[in-house]
Amino acid sequence: MAKSPKFDTLMIHGGQTPDSATGSRAVPIYQTTSYVYENAQRAAEIFDLKASGYIYSRIDNPTVDVLEKRVALLEGGTGAVATASGMSAILYSVLNICEVGDEVVAAVTLYGGTHTLFSDRMLKQYGIKVHLVDADDPAAFEAKFNEKTRCVYFESMGNPGINIPDIEGICEAAHRHGIPVICDNTFGTPYLVQLKDHGVDIVVHSLTKYMGGHGTSIGGIVVDLGTFNWANGRYPMFTEPDETYHGVVYGADMPRAYITKLRTQLLRDTGACMSPFNAFLILQGIETLSLRMDRHCQNALEVANRLAAHDMVESVCYPALEGNKYYDRARKYFKKGCGAILTFNIKGGVAAGKTFIDSLELFSLLANVADAKSLVIHPASTTHGQMSEEALVAAGIEPGMIRLSIGLEDVEDIWEDLERGLEAARKG
Ligand SMILES: *Cc1c(COP(=O)(O)O)cnc(C)c1O
Repeated sequence: MAKSPKFDTLMIHGGQTPDSATGSRAVPIYQTTSYVYENAQRAAEIFDLKASGYIYSRIDNPTVDVLEKRVALLEGGTGAVATASGMSAILYSVLNICEVGDEVVAAVTLYGGTHTLFSDRMLKQYGIKVHLVDADDPAAFEAKFNEKTRCVYFESMGNPGINIPDIEGICEAAHRHGIPVICDNTFGTPYLVQLKDHGVDIVVHSLTKYMGGHGTSIGGIVVDLGTFNWANGRYPMFTEPDETYHGVVYGADMPRAYITKLRTQLLRDTGACMSPFNAFLILQGIETLSLRMDRHCQNALEVANRLAAHDMVESVCYPALEGNKYYDRARKYFKKGCGAILTFNIKGGVAAGKTFIDSLELFSLLANVADAKSLVIHPASTTHGQMSEEALVAAGIEPGMIRLSIGLEDVEDIWEDLERGLEAARKG
């Protein structure tokens, strides 16, 4: 490996040395629940944390370990825990530092599942209160901070508003109050935006999307960027001994305190671990992340420009388009491009939208995004269908809005399909 390997080298080699048992060049799939110890003494040492070694695949697995190390390297973090899904990663990232009575301040522009988790039931049911505020307004975050606030949460690019928050403004406000920042970088990816450079402390991902990239596996990850000092009195869980784990103190000033605690408590006790097979498939995806992202960005920008010029299109939302509300922030945070996902409003409202979607042949109508294949959906009736009309408006989702995820196919074939849909919608 190079002395300080760059991003594209880390995508392919990060976290892996060829398998010591076999020399296997590809990352082997360690499809096992457990690991044989040489003898009873060695087993006892590993369980007592006096020696390192794999224990049980709910907690650690060599294939998953490569994925965790690789994503941590790509984000510039100190460690990571892979999970069964993006949702479990998001839940763990919050539960790792929030107890009953604690509060979170989050952007209102969120993935539908996260919005439901935060505002409608789950966290509320367990006594954690989430305030949802405007992602463009750091002062709105600050206004909700109090002594019970444990974290700030937002998405590097909102889904499906395709908005880019005032990332540095929000991080500065949080840090002034000794509060860490968790950011969902699913739509950003570490290739398009390096959140550590802008003040984020914890990154979460749905690896289901760009990172896996081929629509084959559900997965998530929490990455500790090692930047936050947990010793400011708000987080006794890092300074007091954990009696369920040999009285270990996670250490408020340790760069891996957060992620160590997450693995040894949440992953061990609630078990939303990633399967080795999914880790293998997602690693395959990550090997080509930058190449795919460049093509996604290039195809999406071309489609956005052509849609904007089409007379059946009312408006297009894609931050790389000149005139977009987030154009300047895109230039600042997403220098390499804005990814595959864009939305537009079709003339003729919901009915025209349905005709459009039903006329497409290359695009698949489904609930995923960020796949090599082009995808389409109508968020108001599907992914965000659990939200009230008011909540939809607050999250920036218009009833007639159509979300596209532009794949890696030839852009002329993609456009031919979209044009067919637009012409069908014109005829009604
Ligand atoms: C899909 C998605 C999630 C949820 O991830 P799953 O892997 O489906 O559980 C969270 N955040 C964003 C931004 C997403 O797009």
